[in-house]
Amino acid sequence: MQFEFSTAGRIVFGPGACDRIPDLVAGYGQRAFLVVGGRPDRFGRIPDQLASRGIACVSFTVTGEPTTEVAQAAVASARQTGTEVVLAIGGGSVMDTGKVVAALLASEGDLSDYLEVVGRGKPLQDRSAPCIAVPTTAGTGAEVTYNAVLGVPQQHVKVSIRSPLMLPRWAVVDPLLTHSMPRELTASTGLDALTQLIEAFVSNKANPLTDGICREGLHRAGRSLRRAFEDGSNAEAREDMSLASLFSGLALANAKLGAVHGFAGPLGGMTDAPHGVICGKLLPFVMEANVRALQSRAPDSPALARFDEVGRILTGRSTARASDAVSWIEGLCAVLGLPGLRRYGLSEDDFTAVTAKAKNASSMKGNPIELNEEELHQILRKAID
Ligand code: NAD
Repeated sequence: MQFEFSTAGRIVFGPGACDRIPDLVAGYGQRAFLVVGGRPDRFGRIPDQLASRGIACVSFTVTGEPTTEVAQAAVASARQTGTEVVLAIGGGSVMDTGKVVAALLASEGDLSDYLEVVGRGKPLQDRSAPCIAVPTTAGTGAEVTYNAVLGVPQQHVKVSIRSPLMLPRWAVVDPLLTHSMPRELTASTGLDALTQLIEAFVSNKANPLTDGICREGLHRAGRSLRRAFEDGSNAEAREDMSLASLFSGLALANAKLGAVHGFAGPLGGMTDAPHGVICGKLLPFVMEANVRALQSRAPDSPALARFDEVGRILTGRSTARASDAVSWIEGLCAVLGLPGLRRYGLSEDDFTAVTAKAKNASSMKGNPIELNEEELHQILRKAID
């Protein structure tokens, strides 16, 4: 057995953890680049707290999931202002933009030199500038992963820039920051975390360390996603979901993902569906297809026992099987009111293009079995309505 495990330099977790931010920023210099989301007023006091310590702060707002253009604009602004430390407070979109900025502050050249699939895919040579990542959603775990996902609208796809050198120095996870999420966002981001935990658990690149992390994360997401959706002020459920999200990031960065995320890149580039909705909508059908394909083409695969274990963890029943996990997730998606992907512009005419791109996505390589064209089409047929 051989594996590596990498994560953010340090992780701080707990209600109120974000009070440490000013001290952490001050430890890296006097010029900060603050990346925030569409409602920067939520963190209005942070620039004031930084200013009171003599730290100059330039802000950059990310609305929506970031594109290469948005990231390039952020990099240009940070380079011009002599940034010493990047502070990214927001959802995955904001943290990913912050990670790209930190990477390109430390490396010469343009984003396209380093982007996978659509760029030159050059490896980064230098460790990113200090970056402090602070999630305000509970879903992506991007505070502890070493990639950043960017949309490329011209090519209708989402791709990553990826390197262990991009890991944030600090991940500050404060569940209190997630209480303001409305129901729909709680649902979609929570389903992203659940998907990441399941895909990393059944991945052919899983290891004993990620296994333990996934089991704990699945237990917490299983008992709390619905509770957090139904009552956003339930502190215990919010804490569970922040942990589930963090654990999903720890796991995905070290065990890779699977077919749901293989699809999520092209579907995210071709439709305007939020990443978490795409994940949640595909998850039960990808699980079903994987289990069926494993049973017929690789009946000795250890992944089959993994799927059964997911069933036991999510349902809490000792006799549950993989099919129970699928029904449990379908039931949860119905409660969360997840729409079909047609609502976001997907049509049957897109299936061939989507599957062609999905097959080349890096996440597909972690799927426990290679799915054929017909199996991939069938997943999309089920997720469209
Ligand atoms: P998001 O960052 O796109 O945010 C969605 C919306 O929620 C935004 O309008 C934002 O302003 C709002 N929001 C954020 N926090 C809020 C809060 N506490 N209260 C109310 N509103 C809030 O959503 P996300 O799901 O966190 O991130 C999605 C992005 O992350 C996608 O681009 C996806 O591809 C990427 N991603 C990256 C990784 C990684 O490892 N790098 C992993 C998974 C997903």
